[in-house]
Amino acid sequence: MFSSFKQKFQKIYNKFTNKAKTLFGYEVVDEKVLQELEKLLIESDAGVTTTRSIIAQLKQEVMDGIIKEGADLKNALAQKLKELLKPAEQKDCSIYLLVGINGSGKTTCAGKLAHKFIEQGKKVLLVAADTFRAAAQEQLTEWAEKSGAAIELGKQNQDPASVVFTGMERFNNDNFDVVIIDTAGRLQTKSNLMRELEKIKKIIERKAENKNVCTLLTVDAMLGQNSLDQASIFNESTNLNGIVLTKMDGTGKGGIVFAISQELQVPITYLSVGEHIDSLRSFDSAEYVANLLD
Ligand code: GDP
Ligand code: MG
Repeated sequence: MFSSFKQKFQKIYNKFTNKAKTLFGYEVVDEKVLQELEKLLIESDAGVTTTRSIIAQLKQEVMDGIIKEGADLKNALAQKLKELLKPAEQKDCSIYLLVGINGSGKTTCAGKLAHKFIEQGKKVLLVAADTFRAAAQEQLTEWAEKSGAAIELGKQNQDPASVVFTGMERFNNDNFDVVIIDTAGRLQTKSNLMRELEKIKKIIERKAENKNVCTLLTVDAMLGQNSLDQASIFNESTNLNGIVLTKMDGTGKGGIVFAISQELQVPITYLSVGEHIDSLRSFDSAEYVANLLD
């Protein structure tokens, strides 16, 4: 299991790493080398804006004589990429709200987070506030069974805010350490969805006592630039504390983390690399850049 997990992780980097290796091997870094690097960054989903900004900075360093050979380019690029992912201060949360569009991986992530906290010896409650689809309740129930978490269920078409209300009361009264709230994500009715989330957030905040609330957005990495557009919509309407990049096992495009960090200015907190309960990883920016460039 561990080796396949590692392989899945490796897949994120391989394409970039293999091509970058050639560039870092050149004795002289010139315009042509930078053009190749630009192409490589774009191909890896780093985004046009982010890529242009990186390349412009590198070009200046070449002109200033700071970057001469491939090894200098590698060092300078590593520094720029780490800068882009500069970790924001992370608060310790006991209340998690998962938001994101349909199919982006909210429910799966809720289950995997529950597993993570239970492994740390915590008492965890899952709240099934996606009352839009009946299957959503069943799906989260399966994750509760797999992880050993308790679950607060709603009825189909019940006001999700009322499920959250009951869930938060249970969280406070039954001495849970962590509560994880799964939500619906229909984007067809954007303003409705955002109003629903606002209502849910108000209830959470009212019931949070002094505990920290973390709103995490799940983003499907396979959607490339589209995932960024969707993330922006949530980012405009909701105060996000972190991003969970899902389905990273399905994309060989590791550059997406830079585009998201740069354009949304929200820290990436977790990477998801599969459907297995153990496939959620805390995001470590230094480790990520090192893996990508080595
Ligand atoms: P939701 O609609 O946001 O709740 O999304 P789900 O959690 O139901 O996930 C949608 C689909 O994506 C399901 O089939 C999941 O098993 C799958 N999925 C979620 N995360 C990952 C991941 O990291 N990798 C892969 N390969 N599949 C994932
Ligand atoms: Mg769901």
